[in-house]
This record gives sequence, structure tokens and C-alpha cells, in this order.
Amino acid sequence: MNTTDFTKTPVREIYGINSFGDAVMRERLPKSIYKELKLVQNGKNSLSLGIAEVVANAMKDWALERGATHFTHWFQPLTGLTAEKHDSFISPTADGRVIMEFSGKELIQGEPDASSFPSGGLRATFEARGYTAWDTTSPAFLKEDNSGGITLCIPTAFISYTGEALDMKVPLLRSMEAINKQSLRILRIMGIEAGRVNTSVGPEQEYFLVDREFYDKRPDLMLTGRTVIGSKPAKGQEMDDHYFGAIKERASAFMSELNLELWKLGIASKTQHNEVAPNQFELAPIFDTSNVATDRNQLLMETMKKVAVRHNLVALLHEKPFAGVNGSGKHNNWSMDTDTGLNLLKPGDDPTENAHFILFLVAVIKAVDKYAPLLRMSTANSGNDHRLGASEAPPAIISIFLGDQLSKILDNLANGDKYTSGGKETIELGVSSLPKLPKDLTDRNRTSPFAFTGNKFEFRMVPSSMSIAYPNIVLNTAVADVLSEFADKLENTSDLNKSMRELIKDTYRKHKRIIFNGNNYSEEWIKEAADRGLINLSNTVDALAEISKDYSVDLFERHNVFTRHELESRQEIQLEAYSQQINIEASIMIELTKKQIFPVAGEYIRQLSGTIEGIKASGIKGNSSFETILGKVVESSELLYNNIESLEKHLLLARNIESSPFEQATEYRTKVFTKMADLRVASDTLETLIPCDLWPIPTYLDLLFRL
Ligand code: ADP
Ligand code: MG
Repeated sequence: MNTTDFTKTPVREIYGINSFGDAVMRERLPKSIYKELKLVQNGKNSLSLGIAEVVANAMKDWALERGATHFTHWFQPLTGLTAEKHDSFISPTADGRVIMEFSGKELIQGEPDASSFPSGGLRATFEARGYTAWDTTSPAFLKEDNSGGITLCIPTAFISYTGEALDMKVPLLRSMEAINKQSLRILRIMGIEAGRVNTSVGPEQEYFLVDREFYDKRPDLMLTGRTVIGSKPAKGQEMDDHYFGAIKERASAFMSELNLELWKLGIASKTQHNEVAPNQFELAPIFDTSNVATDRNQLLMETMKKVAVRHNLVALLHEKPFAGVNGSGKHNNWSMDTDTGLNLLKPGDDPTENAHFILFLVAVIKAVDKYAPLLRMSTANSGNDHRLGASEAPPAIISIFLGDQLSKILDNLANGDKYTSGGKETIELGVSSLPKLPKDLTDRNRTSPFAFTGNKFEFRMVPSSMSIAYPNIVLNTAVADVLSEFADKLENTSDLNKSMRELIKDTYRKHKRIIFNGNNYSEEWIKEAADRGLINLSNTVDALAEISKDYSVDLFERHNVFTRHELESRQEIQLEAYSQQINIEASIMIELTKKQIFPVAGEYIRQLSGTIEGIKASGIKGNSSFETILGKVVESSELLYNNIESLEKHLLLARNIESSPFEQATEYRTKVFTKMADLRVASDTLETLIPCDLWPIPTYLDLLFRL
């Protein structure tokens, strides 16, 4: 429970107390060391053991003062989760006592026994070692567990001894480096001063809360994060009364404690509201650099789950916990900032600012069009397959929403017309001052997968349960690639203005097809997108196939983000994860329907038969309604059983495929998945027939409305 009284303990006094962030470092490190560390963080210097010693000591003192006993290198292996291995600070002395120690070497590098993390063939078993390396750009933090234990967590990258990335952080940092490098080239050409360009991300997180008691009786939810059976309740989200409605007391008690925990970690959880579906909520923190935002989103998901349990709730992060009800996603708000405080995707009032804005904007447009399949790939998981295109989330087709005003400006630029906003004269680009884009431009076309929202893009396909690293790696690299093409053209021109004008015109004309300001949920759009030649990768397996294609390997190798080998191993891991997920879902579905639903159907048949017999024996005429129901229950039970058998058969076939991870995943997707849908129909029909008190597991009504 959050029992903090904010009138006595102001938020500013708690904020960040569990984060070894910039303010603490400035306070606790000698000035010269602090400055050196800043240079390391900005990629200007490499880390020396000397600096690490001093920082480790300050970190240790800080952590001990806060009650920590252990430290861990905190990293993100390819399981999609975070991993940690705790070591205590204690070091025994000769006289049988202990001192608390933490060395620079321990800060810089760790060696988790990593042989059981997925590596997709990157590490042969005889060389199962990988090491973790301190990421100086992401603040260390303290994790408090329920029993009062406190651990110092050091964000680290996870690398094999041959230097290959075994996690998400390494490629993310590499992609940030790539976009930094190429952006600086462009800024230099345009005469804009900056020492570094960072990408910024603000991920909005959607989730459901369900009562722990109900959850514990749903093995499907427990094992897979989603309900594999369950018929829709009489009332769903049709009334739209949950969206932004008053937050229920239990949920609000949970949020209050969650906020407190996040604030302590220095995570600026800012907005929270009800989402569209019943018991669905959203939390948005204030944005950070991509790297820090990614770490913090992982931490946020973990904290959410932990705090929920304290309230006898469970936070569901799955993309589609309930069929027929809106699923969850993450909105990845993304932009680019210079170290001088300039947001490169923010249109300015001053026309001279607009030249770079338009150039970067057009670069994003081209990047998204050219690498759309990879962006789609970066959001692929089995959960998102249920969600994308189900009229609750964007379709699997990538397109960009710019809004009418910005589209018109670009159209006019491309046609060589001046855009007249009734304002200032034309300069440089031939762009007159851009009209101050009104706030509601960010309108908010809620159906677009990739929307410009005033000073950033909002990538809305991102799945709720996954790390945001992958989408940002792809986005950063794709944009870096286009910027490098732009820089190649502009660096060698004698007439910069003319070349820029032509580049913008030309690029926009070629990639305009990706812009769509209409309703992405409509049937017409699916057809129109096909006419425009936009790719529609409807499922994870097809999307994952993109990773190892030549254009993908070329892109990532060109910018030193992934090697071919790294890409192929990731593809393998993801395909296997997909197969495994469907395998578990199908298995639990068989278990549930065979051992819980089918017997209950039998019991009801027995009861109904007894009733019918009873009526017959009494000599009263007219038991046809009971006979009708009996008939339906018998028929549905037959159907249920046949579908269980059929699913079992196909599951076995899929499990035994050994030819390739791709073929196996395809079998799961096309056969097992389809059979699961059939079985679900049979079970959900029975649910509508069987009396509530016989139904053996909590229903959608319990899960979605009882809180
Ligand atoms: P909405 O729900 O209307 O899309 P929110 O206010 O909930 O908007 O979320 C907007 C998110 O965008 C927040 O996380 C915010 O910090 C983030 N954001 C704002 N400016 C930037 C920026 N320049 N770069 C990245 N993210 C940003
Ligand atoms: Mg949003």
C-alpha cells in the first residue's frame, strides 16, 4: 500500500531516491571525474579503470546508505525479459569479519553464467560464456523487493566473447550511434551547431488489471498471458464508458503505489487513464533517450507486475488477453534532439528553422517507406498477430499520418508551388514560414500506425509486452541510412539550396505513397494500400522472414548495427519463441477443454437427462425446451471433443518438425493456430449453454468487470 503522505513527504523529496542519476553523480563524484564520465557518456572518451574505480566507490557508498546489500549487472538477454545475478558487497577479512567492497572492475564487467539464455547458435556450448559491460549512459538504480531486500542494479550490455551482441541494448546503442553520426553530417552541412544527436522515446504503456483470485483459476492466463477460451460478456466495450472514465478505487490504489515506486526510480510517470476496454489502463512516462527509455520501460513493466501483486491484482501486459475486447499496445513516441536542445522534428516559427525540419521530416518519410517491412518485423510477436488489423489497432500495413496541413506544404513543395500561409516571404527552401502548427494537428488520427504528432512521430504498432528496443533499433537505423544518402548528395554540391530543394522534392514524390491521412481501420484502405504497393505482412512468421533478406542485412551491416550472423541468430530465436508460444497456448487449451470443460458438459448432460426423465415420470407434457438444450449441449460437446482430437493431432505434427525453425513456425501458424480457433468456437458455444455455477473457470465477466 502507498501510505506516503505527500503533504509531509513532498514528491520532490522522494523523486529519484533510488536512481544513481545525474544529480547524484554530480553531487558525489569529484568534479574532474564527473566531467570525464560525461565525455564517456557522450562517446567522446573511452572508459578507464581509474574512473570506474571512483564511480564504483561512490555508487557503493550511495547504495549502502540506502540499505543495499547486493549488486547485480542488470541486462536484457534475448528472452525479452531482464536478467540479473546478485552478488553481495561483503568481502571477508582475515579476522573473521567482513567489509563492504565494490571495485571498478566489478562495475565495468561481469560474467553471468549465460549458457541457458537463447543465443540462436551464436555461442557454441563449449564457449557458452558471455560478459556484461556497464552502460554508462543508463543510470544505475536500487531495486527494493517486498521483503525489504535492496539491490544495486547496474544496466549492462550483454556480449559474447567474440564481440557479438547477445542482447537488445548493444544494437540499440549502435543504432543511436549511427543516427548520431549521420545527423551530425547533415547539421554540419546546414551550419547548425551540435555535438551530438540523440533519439528520444516516450513509450505509452497499456495494460489490464485483473483480480488475482480469478487469475489463479485461469491456467491459460497464468501460462500464456491470454485467455484461450471465454465467451464475450453481455456488455463489452460497446458503451465506450470506460475510456477516460473515473478510475476504480482498487485500480487507483494500485496506480498510486506504482507511481510512488516509479518516481523513486526517477521514472517520470506522468499520465494515467482508463483505456477503451474495461479494466484496461495506460501509463505514460516523460520521454528519455532511446536507451534510457528502453531500460526504464522494462523496469516499468516489472514494477507494474510487482506492485499489482501487492494489491491482489495481476497486471496483464499481453497484447490480446481477451478475444473480442481491445488489446494492448505501446505507443512509441520518437524524436531526435541535439545536445544543444533542438528538437529536429519540431517545426519552428522561424522559416530558417524549417529547412532542417522539412529535410529531417522527408528523411523519416523515406526511411519508413523504404524499410516498412522491417518496421513491421520489429513489432512482430504472436500476441500482436491478434491485434493488428482487428479494428482496434492499426492494420499490419505501415503508413504515415502527417495531417492535411503538413501534407499540403509538402505537396506544394514537390509541385514547386510556394505554400502561402498568408505570412512571411519565401526563403531558402522556397518554403514560406510554416504556419504554426496548431495543437490539434496532433489529432489525432488514432488509426494511423505511424503518426506525426506535432514534434515527434508516434509508432503505434509496438506490442505491449515486448521491449521497445527492436522498433527503435530499426527506426534509428533506417533513418540513419536515409540521412547518410542525403549527406552524400549534399556534401558535394556547389549550390546547397538548389540541391536541397531538389532532394526534398524528389524524395517526397517517390515516397509519398506511404502517407495516408484517412481511416486506417477501413476496408477501403486495405485495398488502396495494395494498389499503392504497400506491403501487408499479416503475421509474425511472414514478418520475421524479412530479417535475413539481403536488403535488411545490407542496411544493418552498413551502419554496424547487426552482422548477418547476429540477424540470422535473432531470426532463429524469434521463430522458435513464436512456435513455443503457440505450442504452450495449444497445450493449455487442450488441457483446459479436455479436463475441465468437457467433464462439465457431461455433468450438465446428466442433469438435463435427469430433469427430462423427471418430467416424463411426472406425466406432465412438454419438456421440449430441456430436450432442445440437451440436444445442443450434446452436439457442442461432440464438436468440442472432435476439435480437441484434431488439435492434438496437429500439435504433435508441428512439434515434430525438425527441418527448419521457419517451417515449424509456419506449421504452427497455419495449422495449429487454425485448429485452436475451431476449438475455441466449440468451447465458447458450450459456455453460453452451461449454467454459471457449473462453469469451472472464471468468465470474462469476472475478469473484465469485477475489480
Ligand atoms: P497521447 O496519449 O495523447 O499520445 P501522452 O501525453 O499520453 O499523449 O504521451 C505522449 C508521450 O510522448 C509522452 O510519453 C511524452 O513524454 C512523449 N514525448 C513528448 N515529446 C517527445 C519527444 N520530443 N520525443 C519523444 N517523446 C516525446
Ligand atoms: Mg499516444
